[in-house]
Amino acid sequence: RPEDVSSPGEGFRSPLIDAAHPSSARVYDYLLGGKDNFAADRDAADRIAEEFPAIRIGARENRRFLLRGVRHLAAEVGIRQFLDIGTGIPTSPNVHEVVQGITPAARIAYVDNDPIVLAHARALMVSDPSGRVGYLDADVRQPRSIIDSRLVREILDFTEPIALVLSAILHFIPDEQNPGDIVRMFVAALPPGSYVLATHVTPEHEPRLRPASAGYRADGVRTQARPAAEFEKLVFTSQGLELVDPGVVLVSRWRRDPADPPAPPPAQVSAYGGLALHK
Ligand code: SAH
Repeated sequence: RPEDVSSPGEGFRSPLIDAAHPSSARVYDYLLGGKDNFAADRDAADRIAEEFPAIRIGARENRRFLLRGVRHLAAEVGIRQFLDIGTGIPTSPNVHEVVQGITPAARIAYVDNDPIVLAHARALMVSDPSGRVGYLDADVRQPRSIIDSRLVREILDFTEPIALVLSAILHFIPDEQNPGDIVRMFVAALPPGSYVLATHVTPEHEPRLRPASAGYRADGVRTQARPAAEFEKLVFTSQGLELVDPGVVLVSRWRRDPADPPAPPPAQVSAYGGLALHK
């Protein structure tokens, strides 16, 4: 079915991009209403949506949390450096647009390991001239390849506070890949006064999310939904981080903006988020 693999977005094609199998970045893009996805991604997303019809609502609420979180960090806390791992396909507004809208000189390093995100990296690098934005193609499971990379070191000053952003990425790291060790290596590299912002899919309001993630798995994308307490321990408490109010809550409930539409019911959101300080 060649028509099914017509290239996404602006007609980009790359031998690195495997259109025949779904990728988490492209499935998420499709769920958010983007155009940078292939038939295999849409099939995977539709299969998840059969089990969990609210998946699009959850994806949107996750994205809203992410943008509220980085806006809070830039505007209220004064953070000027961001390390956003698991960036995803550009979705306007992107993290750097929100942050540099507040602090034009802010510096943002984006990291993802999906070639489709790399293909769109130029859209992620339109920085305010007084700031700096860059993109690194790397795997979160190899923290040193990120922390020690030339690009990240050029953009970020590890003697000044950095916000580490892990939004909707850790549920792609199953326990046997030691997500706790991965987070620990990143946190150890952050200077005091840094923050960690993270979100994670949860099965506790919607047990059907387990079969839905099995759907992903059948196509080679592995996921592990984690209950709130597990997520909180993995990313925040076991790392010695100090959660900022209101702690780990459904992404829809975290410092909701009066301009946001009413929050959907918990089962439709099914993702937790939190922000914590590294003292
Ligand atoms: N952070 C964005 C996008 C989340 S989609 C948001 O919350 O809106 C999840 C992203 O994580 C995808 O782009 C996917 O390619 C990326 N990802 C998954 N596993 C990864 C890994 N091992 N290393 C780096 N990025 C990964």
